[in-house]
Amino acid sequence: MKFCIYEVRDDERQMLETLRQKYQLELVLTNEVLNLDTIAYAQGCDGVSTLGYSRLNREVLTKLSEMGIYACSSRCIGINHIDTQAARELKIRISNASYSPYGVADYTVMLMLMLIRRYKPALWRQQVNDYSLGGLMGREMRDMTVGIIGTGRIGCAVMENLSGFGCKLLCSDVRKNSEAARLGEYVELDEIFTNCDMISLHTPLLDSTRHLVNERTLSLMKPDGMLINCARGELMDIQAVTHAIENQRIGGVAMDVFEKEDGIYHHDCRTDILKNRDMAYLRQFPNVIMTQHMAFYTKEAVDSMVTCGIESLVAFTQGKEYFCEIR
Ligand code: NAD
Repeated sequence: MKFCIYEVRDDERQMLETLRQKYQLELVLTNEVLNLDTIAYAQGCDGVSTLGYSRLNREVLTKLSEMGIYACSSRCIGINHIDTQAARELKIRISNASYSPYGVADYTVMLMLMLIRRYKPALWRQQVNDYSLGGLMGREMRDMTVGIIGTGRIGCAVMENLSGFGCKLLCSDVRKNSEAARLGEYVELDEIFTNCDMISLHTPLLDSTRHLVNERTLSLMKPDGMLINCARGELMDIQAVTHAIENQRIGGVAMDVFEKEDGIYHHDCRTDILKNRDMAYLRQFPNVIMTQHMAFYTKEAVDSMVTCGIESLVAFTQGKEYFCEIR
């Protein structure tokens, strides 16, 4: 079996080599994205694997099928970079990756604590020998009401993590589950915005979730309410969030993801002219914490993503089922 692996990061290579030996594979490895310019690397392969920056649109998928490639794996959880309808029509089998939700859940709680304990301005001060306390007074989690939007794997793991802090947990989802209901109380979406001191987003990016944080929902929030987004940048209308921060209508935001982060996050852009104005502008605020889409990034998760990516291609090539197949 021969597979072409796109967007290979150095931290994936050790696991790729382990799996290459285990399944006796021939692997073509490249750090480039899969597109019409690089698709030729996959000539003669049985399958291709990408991370989230390749755009598997109808054109690319059609070309893959013309090359006789009907197995495609995404080594990340999100699949909004794949035209799944086109893949279905072309009979290309698609899989995504699965990994423990606790890496993202732990990171979410870390961002919550960083926000409420004003860690960003405290860190700035430390670096210039300013050890004053003014303006750094925090709040205690125990006294807070935290809202979780999206109670799937990660949302539930965040609720489980938070249950040790003693805060009140409210949650909202289009599909309720018993685990979240045990840990918190399901309420309507607007009640989350109205009643919570901190709101954390854990839904996928869908038409129904795009800009679920917007002028209207922001206007419902408490004046010191805080938002945490470790899901997808497009869940928030960034213009509306920027206005709310500028006008001090909310207490703070922590974002591990950002609208139009492609081409910036996960790259060293120190000598580039960055075109994402919102990103550059929001970064300056003491109550805005931004990180480069790294909540998932643990050794455990990376090994699991690579394993799913390769083992699904092996299964598809052998005509077998795979548990992370997208149908
Ligand atoms: P999941 O599928 O287990 O859970 C998503 C939940 O969102 C489901 O319960 C679903 O019913 C709910 N949902 C869907 N539409 C909704 C709506 N309109 N309103 C409220 N709830 C809605 O997914 P997960 O594994 O928990 O991951 C959640 C998201 O986190 C992913 O889609 C991805 O975008 C993001 N993510 C980010 C990182 C990172 O590194 N920052 C890593 C992994 C995942």
